[in-house]
Amino acid sequence: MNALSTTTIFDADLVRRYDGPGPRYTSYPTAVQFHAGFGTAEYEAAARESNSRDPKPLSIYVHVPFCESPCFYCGCNKVITRDHERAKPYLERLFLEIDRQGALFDKSRAVDQLHFGGGTPTFFSDEELAAVFAKMRENFTLRDDPGREYSIEIDPRTVSVERLEVLAKLGFNRVSLGVQDFDPDVQVAVNRVQSPEETLALIAKTRDPALQIDSVSIDLIYGLPRQNRTTFAKTLERVIAARPDRIAAYSYAHLPHLFKPQKQIKLEDLITPAEKLGLLGLTVETLTEAGYVYIGMDHFALPTDELVRAQQAGTLQRNFQGYSTRAECDLIAVGVSSISKVGDTYAQNAKSLPEYYRMIDAGGLAVQRGVALEPDDRLRRDVIQQLMCATRLEFGPIEARHGVRFEEYFAAELEAIGPLEKDDLVAREGPSLRITARGRLLMRNVAMLFDAHLKKAATAGAQPRFSRVV
Ligand code: SF4
Repeated sequence: MNALSTTTIFDADLVRRYDGPGPRYTSYPTAVQFHAGFGTAEYEAAARESNSRDPKPLSIYVHVPFCESPCFYCGCNKVITRDHERAKPYLERLFLEIDRQGALFDKSRAVDQLHFGGGTPTFFSDEELAAVFAKMRENFTLRDDPGREYSIEIDPRTVSVERLEVLAKLGFNRVSLGVQDFDPDVQVAVNRVQSPEETLALIAKTRDPALQIDSVSIDLIYGLPRQNRTTFAKTLERVIAARPDRIAAYSYAHLPHLFKPQKQIKLEDLITPAEKLGLLGLTVETLTEAGYVYIGMDHFALPTDELVRAQQAGTLQRNFQGYSTRAECDLIAVGVSSISKVGDTYAQNAKSLPEYYRMIDAGGLAVQRGVALEPDDRLRRDVIQQLMCATRLEFGPIEARHGVRFEEYFAAELEAIGPLEKDDLVAREGPSLRITARGRLLMRNVAMLFDAHLKKAATAGAQPRFSRVV
């Protein structure tokens, strides 16, 4: 276990100065680098090779794209409908995809992680969710022991206390609940009205030992319209009192030209960048004072949580769901727009429902684009993961894993890091870099220095395609 500083210093001036667009590094290279030259054939080759070269355990992601009504802040790829019949044609294709994916992977590879995300996974009825589980069992080796991490994103508006029991019986032992903000004014402004009492009752029910739910995670968003310090402090207080194991606090990025639902937000309801920054400071201070450990980027966890232990042990990894403790798994993603990570490749399914249906109906998988990593990508991914997850980068292990001399290979990056060192975001300590307490909120800025694709795009004069850092 390395000695890891869990302190975070919130410096509003510094955060304001570094708040430019930047990737979230749920992958490296980021999705911007995915291309159509990588398709189903390339993915299948990577999957088959993963069985023989390095048969890791599996992680499976199931994407459910439907939501009953649009939350105005949402930037996700989803389909808004109240017509639950639309689940049927989707499930037909999903089952075919699961059969075809299952045929690619050896049954000896157990599924350590299973995650249902969306959209709204609980848009599916209990019977439909059970059918997806059964289809998974036909094709993959699911685990039933407590060591599994089987999670589902819950929209508390669609899940009663009784329904939670059904989900637990199906095999889910982790849940994450969307809260965003309990304040009624904010809820109206973002078109997501959900009763705090029902949400808190649901969290309380997860503690029922009979359900054997090991971990509860809550999502909050700061920077939403009509938010203010007083009401957000109340939301934080209620959430902390419920003591979820993990809290994710995401930044709201107002980009109505990219995300149509955001056009419905009234301009006069938006808060200023300074107010948003104040809410971030409030969130970090309140959660850390309440005993939560800041994991990095946007996640907080109780000291007893696996994420904290993994961060201390240096085994934490960043993935499409945020942070994960299972660095060793190959990730198979099924459903429209989902992204797999198998071996040294990323592969994304068709992003629209008609295209996803068309590809599955044609008899194959639905991989539409992706990327196979070059040795330089693998090296930089390792560096960026270390910075974003361990908050410390030791040159020696990187040199051993990739056969380079760190200070020679990254001479330009180490020079460029100078101003960030002066601002005390990062410290050079012999053959290592450490993200400082002041730099914890800005670790993306340090990681960005090692992103070769970002540098190339900037040199070519391309417009940044990422949201702001905070
Ligand atoms: S925030 Fe979640 S529930 Fe709301 S529209 Fe987006 S995906 Fe659907």
